[in-house]
Amino acid sequence: MKPTVVVVGGGYGGIGVAKALDEAADVVLVEPKDAFVHNIAALRSVVQPDFLPRMFLPYDHLLKNGTVLRDRATRVDGHTVELASGTRLTPDYLVLASGSSYPFPAKSDQSATVDAVAKYQAAHDNLKRADSVMLLGAGAVGLEFAGEIAAAWPDKDIVLVDVAPDILPGPYDPRLREEITRQLDELGIRRNLGSPLVQPAPTRAGEFGRFTVATSDGTVIEADIWFRCYGIAPQTDYVAGELLAARTHDGYLEVTPELRVAGFDNVYALGDISNIDVNKAGVAGRQAAVVATNIQAQINGSGELAEWSPSRPVIILPLGPRGGSGQLPDGEIASSEAISRIKGQDMMVDRYVQMLNLGG
Ligand SMILES: Cc1cc2nc3c(=O)[nH]c(=O)nc-3n(C[C@H](O)[C@H](O)[C@H](O)COP(=O)(O)OP(=O)(O)OC[C@H]3O[C@@H](n4cnc5c(N)ncnc54)[C@H](O)[C@@H]3O)c2cc1C
Repeated sequence: MKPTVVVVGGGYGGIGVAKALDEAADVVLVEPKDAFVHNIAALRSVVQPDFLPRMFLPYDHLLKNGTVLRDRATRVDGHTVELASGTRLTPDYLVLASGSSYPFPAKSDQSATVDAVAKYQAAHDNLKRADSVMLLGAGAVGLEFAGEIAAAWPDKDIVLVDVAPDILPGPYDPRLREEITRQLDELGIRRNLGSPLVQPAPTRAGEFGRFTVATSDGTVIEADIWFRCYGIAPQTDYVAGELLAARTHDGYLEVTPELRVAGFDNVYALGDISNIDVNKAGVAGRQAAVVATNIQAQINGSGELAEWSPSRPVIILPLGPRGGSGQLPDGEIASSEAISRIKGQDMMVDRYVQMLNLGG
């Protein structure tokens, strides 16, 4: 009999592990959503809703042997996985890949594709009506969203507000910030940095309705709509019992270089919930390969486990389909043309269409 593997979460990391172990083990992928959400394309989908069918990719062809179970892990102690349906699983190997939440529209919060698509379409309709837009947060998400809006509707007035004194926090080369700033100026995207809002906006995020707010430096901002572009949170609320010892104060899971949860031989964690590297789909995907290799080695009894080596600072930051910049693995600052080719044109959809065996 094949060993059993339960993967909690079918995001960028979870699908990689499940697919890689599909031959060697009996894989059950637990995921509450009815489709893989390619959230890298989320902000494009708000300005261009004809992208939505490519953002939600069915799991139907991901596994040949294993099962995708539409359910949610509610209690995991490192030995038993309890699901919302009441089912209890006790696999030989457990992989935690439940990722992170982020305020809409950067990540979807709906489990049915039909509801998610309706929510993105409504956000599009509201945004389309607005002459002016306020984005709270000038990190990667706020910048990318501002670029998408400016590319789709060049006449809209866009302001980015952040409490930090500069755009794009993170260990990036200052030349990248300079290049992005230059392009923001070219696109007419205003910044109000280093001073927070004095009071919250009176309307709800994503709702159409004119409002006025002030920042602590006395600037008055009027806009028709606003969105929250900060607030990532690891999704580990199901962690219980012995497994709790590995959860950090901010909700991440502490893992060893082999990506095992500290204190457990057969429990792995990867992607946005692990505390070993940055929150990136590319990292989650490469960590999935390490986890699958290690579980395969444990199954074979071949001994040596692979280790994760943290990545160098890399970012691919489009500002619309043709603009943007980024920092490449060799440290170089990428041109708009390169960013457009790598991400801006198709938002990396083809890679995940192939991954989910939907390529035809
Ligand atoms: C707008 C935006 C653009 C981005 N662009 C890029 C980019 O260009 N390149 C890049 O590398 N990264 C990018 N990222 C980051 C990337 O999206 C994340 O790093 C990535 O989603 C992490 O993958 P993951 O598999 O760890 O988790 P996720 O993709 O978050 O997937 C986790 C899955 O687990 C499920 N889940 C949660 N709780 C449970 C539970 N209790 N039981 C079962 N299942 C559960 C969720 O439904 C979800 O499907 C971007 C992020 C945003 C917000």
